[in-house]
Amino acid sequence: MSKRDYYEVLGLERGADDNDVKRAYRKLARQYHPDVNKDAEAEGIFKEVSEAYTILSDPQRRAAYDRFGHAGVGAGGGFGGGGFDSSNFGGFGGLGDIFEAFFGGGRGDPFSGQRGGSQRSRVERGSDLRLDLQIGFRDAIFGLEREIEVQHLEHCDICDGKGMEPGTQMSSCPTCRGSGQIQQHQRTAFGTFTHVTTCPKCQGQGNFAEHPCKGCKGKGRVDQRKTLKVTIPAGVDTGVRLCMNGYGDAGAQGGPPGDLYLVLHVQDDSEGIFERRDQDIYTELPIGYAQAALGDKVEVPTLEGPTKFDIPAGTQPGTVFKLRNKGVPYLNSPATRGDLYFKVNVSVPTEVSAEQRNLLENLYELEKGLGGGFSFSEDGGLGAKKSDKHADDKKKGGFFDILKETWKSHHKEED
Ligand SMILES: [Zn+2]
Ligand SMILES: [Zn+2]
Repeated sequence: MSKRDYYEVLGLERGADDNDVKRAYRKLARQYHPDVNKDAEAEGIFKEVSEAYTILSDPQRRAAYDRFGHAGVGAGGGFGGGGFDSSNFGGFGGLGDIFEAFFGGGRGDPFSGQRGGSQRSRVERGSDLRLDLQIGFRDAIFGLEREIEVQHLEHCDICDGKGMEPGTQMSSCPTCRGSGQIQQHQRTAFGTFTHVTTCPKCQGQGNFAEHPCKGCKGKGRVDQRKTLKVTIPAGVDTGVRLCMNGYGDAGAQGGPPGDLYLVLHVQDDSEGIFERRDQDIYTELPIGYAQAALGDKVEVPTLEGPTKFDIPAGTQPGTVFKLRNKGVPYLNSPATRGDLYFKVNVSVPTEVSAEQRNLLENLYELEKGLGGGFSFSEDGGLGAKKSDKHADDKKKGGFFDILKETWKSHHKEED
């Protein structure tokens, strides 16, 4: 199977700068990460995207790719051993690589350490991990406790993270003579191309266990699944990251663990009543024409249930009212909350009774006599009324319909 062009995978032009690369990767990783995307193809795409990013975000490897294509950066070329290894993403334990793209910190590029040619530190902090969590609309507003399942590397208890059978020693690596790196030369039409790569025998450590620990196959770390209880505070929103110190991967060679970052994604209100914009909540309230004209005490939906509100007489359709402190708590000071805004929608009925019709007609005549504020075309609802009084009023939304609704709702209230 031929590999797709890395630029094509990330949807970039050849001249894209580092920020473009990072941005494209971030967007695609978020879209296809198997923790988020359960589609069958997502995992494959995610690996492809991660591989493209690994190469294009590293200036040396990108230059090699630009000149020699896939052959220059792996896939049978000189980087085969130390190059991108998609098994890093198997089981998605390699989320630390993603972490770097998002948070830019932690342990540094696994490849950049090779450039200086000097000895690397043998004890490294473990990778930071990222876990995407979907949070319900109300849970994000009021907070919750929930359990999450984490898969990460922990120190092997048998060898205490050292990777060798207890009582045995590490030996200096003969392949790289203890430097952890090897140079490889690749002859091409353009000259000899030299790569410095991680020593495959000792994984760059410079020494290796002649008697590897059986518990961890010499890795010093074992993959563990764990259930953790986390408290999501009130007021979180999409994009908020919660850091769980020490819950990332254990470090190699007994190094300290990285952190686990929970990245939150807040769902929309499943009932479709509220819309959230930062700390404020928006909703709509349907009322009748008579309620709008005369004013009324109405029930407005809030996050904590309906509350009474006095609509003033003469309220116009589309008027927005504000309920202070009925919005979303601020993350760092939950006693302070945003506001709730509701927009008044004047609803128009599609049917009226004979009595309502009579009242409406009287109202209409009255307002006409007063030179009232209505204006409408002669071929509107009025025409229908004169010529076809008792036929069904299937015409909707005309002036006449508005009057009907008025008297329907008004009449009900006074009963
Ligand atoms: Zn072990
Ligand atoms: Zn070695």
